[in-house]
Amino acid sequence: MLVVKKFGGTSVGSKDRILNVARRCIEEHQKGNDVVVVLSAMGKTTDELLAKAKDINPRASKREMDMLLTVGEQTSVSLMAMAMDALGVPAISLNAFQIGMKTTSAYGNARLKNIDTERIRHELESRKIVIVTGFQGINKYDDYTTLGRGGSDTTAVALAAVLHADTCEIYTDVDGVYTADPRIVKDARKMKEITYDEMLDLATLGAGVLHNRSVEMAKKYGVTLVVRSSLNDSEGTVVKEEVSVERMLVSGVALDKNAARISVMGLKDEPGIAFKLFDTLAKKHINVDIILQSIGREGTKDISFTVDEDEADETIAILTDNKNRITAKEITCQKEVAKMSIVGAGMMSNPGVAAKMFEALYNARVNINMISTSEIRVTVLVDQEDGEKALRACHEAFGLSEI
Ligand code: ADP
Ligand code: ASP
Ligand code: MG
Repeated sequence: MLVVKKFGGTSVGSKDRILNVARRCIEEHQKGNDVVVVLSAMGKTTDELLAKAKDINPRASKREMDMLLTVGEQTSVSLMAMAMDALGVPAISLNAFQIGMKTTSAYGNARLKNIDTERIRHELESRKIVIVTGFQGINKYDDYTTLGRGGSDTTAVALAAVLHADTCEIYTDVDGVYTADPRIVKDARKMKEITYDEMLDLATLGAGVLHNRSVEMAKKYGVTLVVRSSLNDSEGTVVKEEVSVERMLVSGVALDKNAARISVMGLKDEPGIAFKLFDTLAKKHINVDIILQSIGREGTKDISFTVDEDEADETIAILTDNKNRITAKEITCQKEVAKMSIVGAGMMSNPGVAAKMFEALYNARVNINMISTSEIRVTVLVDQEDGEKALRACHEAFGLSEI
């Protein structure tokens, strides 16, 4: 059997934790299985490296940022190999170069394109535990790239896919996927199983327990994921195509504080304006989420939309540069907002779910700024200070803490 195990930052945050992970992997190896381990940077290393860069140059190039950030994962994999060696089991650490982990060229947000499995297979054949750097890749210029925050999950799923692994286990600091972030909602419940589609929405809408691209990739290649704790032996959550438990109306709720609302006002009320506006942003790789357009009045209209908060300043700069071309009179930005979502495949066939959510928000006296829906989710934009209250209110209204 071939097993891919990924351990996040907290799970390798100290010498003791590294030794704990080493022992768990060795246990698997001693069952006769091939073991590929993917690691994140230790503890808060990535945040610390980001802070160092900001201190020296707040506008550092994305290339140099990736050169810096990849150091974190390189440290943890080599220390892990040393730990396993000290425990008497042969292991080897490998980075993105050594396994030809090819990505697109977008520094800071690259997508995986190809992995050369030959070296890994060779090392596994000689019965070594293979330890791979998460989060990093190389592009066509032979530069380091990174996959976006939380990207080590995606490295693990990609390796599981190309190596045809029997399981892909994501070890973290919680026991599995919960109905809400257990740090915010104390009575959140651990789910036994969840579908790829629901998990993808939850991850995209703020449930940071899995990188959303890892879920996308797991679905595409049929990799069954297990999310579980690195600190205990509890069962965890299985992420897969179909679940056997009865579908809940709403299976989970998520909060994303990294949102900003941009309003572009006084636009000409004529064909092609929305195209010009969003095409300008798309060409600069700005991801736009909820969009709201007002009814045209006296020849003008307003368009509001949300972007990630860390892209808000760039968005404003791009729009200001193109103000005349897109016919905007005024552009404003509000950063103190949060997106709150409910997700559940069960809502597809049940009307009234959105109304129930709005009732819960009304009872909690939370004002809704924007709304967006899909078949299996409803998202509202609220003031940031209301975000956690809104999350708890919806969790309670849909009875998510009960079994
Ligand atoms: P790692 O470093 O192991 O990748 P992360 O910090 O990226 O860990 O993800 C784990 C964290 O995700 C948890 O500590 C938890 O606070 C947060 N989280 C957010 N939403 C959820 C959820 N629905 N279920 C479980 N954890 C969640
Ligand atoms: N170390 C990276 C981060 O902190 C990648 C990861 O942990 O998945 O975002
Ligand atoms: Mg993570």
